[in-house]
Amino acid sequence: MNPTNIVILGGGFGGLAAANELRQNLPQDARITIIDKKDWFMMDLVKLWIINGTREFETSKRSLENVTKKGIEFVNEEVIKIDPEHKTVRTSYRQFHYNYLIIALGVELAPEQIHGLKENSLILYDLKDVPKIRDAIKQMKSGKIVMAITGMPYKCPPAPFEAALLIRSVLEEQGTSDSIKMEFYSPAPLTLPAGGPQVSEDILQILKSKNIEFQGNHKTVSVEPNKIKFENGETDFDLLITVPPHKAPSVVTASGFAQPGKFIETDRTCKTNFENVYAIGDVNQIMVTDKIAVPKAGIFAEEEGITVARNIISQIAKEMQNAVFDGKGGCFLETGKKVAGYLAVDMFATPNPLTELRPASGEHFSEKEKFERERLEKWL
Ligand SMILES: Cc1cc2nc3c(=O)[nH]c(=O)nc-3n(C[C@H](O)[C@H](O)[C@H](O)COP(=O)(O)OP(=O)(O)OC[C@H]3O[C@@H](n4cnc5c(N)ncnc54)[C@H](O)[C@@H]3O)c2cc1C
Repeated sequence: MNPTNIVILGGGFGGLAAANELRQNLPQDARITIIDKKDWFMMDLVKLWIINGTREFETSKRSLENVTKKGIEFVNEEVIKIDPEHKTVRTSYRQFHYNYLIIALGVELAPEQIHGLKENSLILYDLKDVPKIRDAIKQMKSGKIVMAITGMPYKCPPAPFEAALLIRSVLEEQGTSDSIKMEFYSPAPLTLPAGGPQVSEDILQILKSKNIEFQGNHKTVSVEPNKIKFENGETDFDLLITVPPHKAPSVVTASGFAQPGKFIETDRTCKTNFENVYAIGDVNQIMVTDKIAVPKAGIFAEEEGITVARNIISQIAKEMQNAVFDGKGGCFLETGKKVAGYLAVDMFATPNPLTELRPASGEHFSEKEKFERERLEKWL
């Protein structure tokens, strides 16, 4: 009998979690292959530590080749086509056949959707711009930093606020904080809509306490040198840091898994409309209510990866288990000086999703460090 081929597209948070769960529970003759165009993994949260100067990219990334030591195959190629009818995936060089496919390709940043954004701002989520943000805030002596979320949904809803607080903390350390104004714009009315009004208010107060002025309901339409324009006004800046619009990776849209401008819609099993094809993590969209979707976060990508892996394992064993993603998790809200709050989330709580912000402490910051360390040790 031919061995079972499980192909995982994307060696990020979700792909690595799924691959490890599968490898630990399946016999060695089951082939598990991760395909990724990058040959390294680094948690996105480290980008914030590069900005505050406590980390560097070179010493924070891990080689994806390390998965081969555990009997997971790794292919460092770009996926250019997914053909669910013939159960194949094409990369630039070859074709792979699968029995089970897990799409864990994350999102693509799409700054080009807003005129002038790429040219006139530094992109918080773009690894190339992260050291430039560090340099810019170090060099700035006075003036105005504007931060703007320019599209929804975006990865890790609290991360831009963490970034603002960490930047303020760097400015405080270098004695320039009093002469640098910080403003934060979002198209959403609240800081953290998925977290609800109370948590949003808590975050607003934390921002206020650090002299960061939050302006909701500001949809960015274009950016010019030193000026950002919204549907309802404009403001000038000396430094603009943005979260760009996100979109599903082109290969996902081109292969018919998502409509342009959308992500892959799934329920809590993460099954797609195609046989034995699952979509996990940022690339999917799981609606919780008619307005609220599961936020795009590593912790949820990981849980979805484990859920899907367990269902594949039980299908291979011809058992009937059908686990669903439970929507529980948590995210840190780092506020600077090795202190963090913790957002405990239960997306499928009844009658409404539940988020609680636990107060900032040194312990939560240590847990954030542990969050990264434990996963790197386990996965790579
Ligand atoms: C600044 C910042 C801070 C964050 N902090 C946190 C946090 O504290 N906690 C948390 O839970 N989440 C956090 N997140 C969110 C988290 O990083 C993402 O939600 C998570 O990475 C999603 O996992 P994923 O597996 O869906 O996608 P990813 O981890 O993005 O992995 C996708 C992989 O697919 C690969 N890929 C894409 N297209 C192709 C292709 N065509 N061919 C081959 N390979 C391809 C990519 O190279 C990538 O390796 C943060 C995000 C940011 C930006």
